[in-house]
Amino acid sequence: MQIRFLGAAGEVTGSQYLCEGVVAGERRRFLVDCGLFQGGRDAHDKNEQGFAFDPASLDFVVLTHAHLDHSGLLPRLCAAGFRGPIYTTAASLELLKILLPDSAHLQTADRERAERRLEKGRWHGELPTVLYGMDEVQTTLQQVRPFNYGLTFQPVPGILVRFHNAGHILGAAIAVIDVAIDQVTPSKTRRLVFSGDIGPSGPFMMPAPELIPHADVLVVESTYGDRLHKTMEQTRDEMVEVVTHTLRHGGNIVIPAFAVGRTQEVLLLLAELVRIKRLPHLNVFIDSPMATAVTQLTAHFRDALEEEAQDMLAWHEAHPEALRLRLVSDVEESKSLNLIRGGAIIISASGMCEGGRVVHHLYNNLPHQQNAVIITGFQARGTTGRQLVEKARTVRLFGREVPVNASVHTVGGLSAHADQSGLLTWLGGFASPPEKVFVVHGEPDASNKLAEAMRNRLGWKHVTIPERGTSFLC
Ligand SMILES: [Zn+2]
Repeated sequence: MQIRFLGAAGEVTGSQYLCEGVVAGERRRFLVDCGLFQGGRDAHDKNEQGFAFDPASLDFVVLTHAHLDHSGLLPRLCAAGFRGPIYTTAASLELLKILLPDSAHLQTADRERAERRLEKGRWHGELPTVLYGMDEVQTTLQQVRPFNYGLTFQPVPGILVRFHNAGHILGAAIAVIDVAIDQVTPSKTRRLVFSGDIGPSGPFMMPAPELIPHADVLVVESTYGDRLHKTMEQTRDEMVEVVTHTLRHGGNIVIPAFAVGRTQEVLLLLAELVRIKRLPHLNVFIDSPMATAVTQLTAHFRDALEEEAQDMLAWHEAHPEALRLRLVSDVEESKSLNLIRGGAIIISASGMCEGGRVVHHLYNNLPHQQNAVIITGFQARGTTGRQLVEKARTVRLFGREVPVNASVHTVGGLSAHADQSGLLTWLGGFASPPEKVFVVHGEPDASNKLAEAMRNRLGWKHVTIPERGTSFLC
């Protein structure tokens, strides 16, 4: 088997790995993940580039999870001729039904906005490309074949695939792929393990990632390979302090949060704090159509959650008055939240304050000092969220300078990714070192530090950080 690293190599986004070789007498070719490149100057170019192989020649695709940096180029792959099955979990399929149409919609909206500005002479440079539309998304969704964790299936003779819970987001999987290699006699099986994104080892909403005892070849993520997260205990304390203080002074709390995962984690954390009486009764509004859809989906797939999280959901259903939750759907209702002067907790997207309904809430709440903003996720350089974290005195919203008089707090500890120690715990689950290990899905520093820790602490010798476009015989 040969593995070619076509994305998430030396960076975090654009996961795409091409595997090819002769299996059971046939030349086989499959792809693991097909993600969008996001952020960074050349992301657009990379997304627009054609594929490095003929999509029609693929036998199948394995998708580890629904995040767009793993799934976001699938509609382009299908439009370029791939007609085969896309294997993923049932929960991932449901998330794809929410995320891919949204991605298509955002691309069209960006393009139309740019065209309007061009007409007025206010757009310079190239117009943003629409990578795919709703038709391509629908075709893609029809090609998805869901399999639950623990089931073994055979996409083609000689290749067996199984998903294990990665503890990252709903439906996220570690893909274990057994390939019967022909070139050696007697024919031998090689086990390829793709970690996908690995969740934290001190689980909160999702269970800890399943340990895999054996791999011949391991491809492992390294998003936070160079750092340690704050503990959940610190996170609880920080949350209690800010919420108590703000509500006591009659303010509102705005929590910008990613619609998938983070919104639901924040909600469960608040519910837990109310249940153990560290917080009073709360009025919480989830104001993001996508977050609302995903929150409902999370309740539907509750069996996939960590046991305590399941208990919390059950408790909340039995005590709806303790944490009054309002899922805001229409725009008018969203705007009416602007009239609330105090006592509300508003969770809204986008997570980095770069668009979406949260911008309205910031616009209305930032100027007043009794209010608070709680940042719960990573804020990329250049975003409004990052400016808030860096204590900007004003931020530009809707073309106006808005004074930041509200207090801004960063609550660490909530993360869908394992930190270095979490990754090492998961890696420690292998009974013996895999013959070949590839570190992907990380900034160079994070990948290097994780590789170093693997060599020093686990004693693994053959650890490689592949560059984009390189191939390895495995
Ligand atoms: Zn992910």
